[in-house]
Amino acid sequence: MRTGVALKISKADIKKYFLYLLRWQCSTPILSVVIWALPLDSISEAVIANLIGGLIFFWIDRLIFKQVVVYVWWEKKQGRCVDCGKPGVTMRVIRAGRYNKEADQNPEYRCRECADKKLREVLQKV
Ligand SMILES: [Zn+2]
Repeated sequence: MRTGVALKISKADIKKYFLYLLRWQCSTPILSVVIWALPLDSISEAVIANLIGGLIFFWIDRLIFKQVVVYVWWEKKQGRCVDCGKPGVTMRVIRAGRYNKEADQNPEYRCRECADKKLREVLQKV
């Protein structure tokens, strides 16, 4: 019997991971300069270097790990999906970030699967 945990990592997470590794490398020059410039013991030099690094990299880390929250407003009704034709509960995205279809004259309603696909397209643009 095979057991395991599937680890799902998105492309965005991989990008963040490499940015974070690159950011860590940027702390090396600070450490080197502090060790070279200050005539202190190595623990004190490391503390000062980490303090300087923390003051700088707090802001950079914040940019790397910035989360964007997009609120999505849906409208549901009984009908037929415009994409696949499946009857039943259909829905449409009214608003998601800058995407705004509140005044849409010909709203398009989709089944759950097609609506999820459409939402992914919309979220790429917001
Ligand atoms: Zn559909």
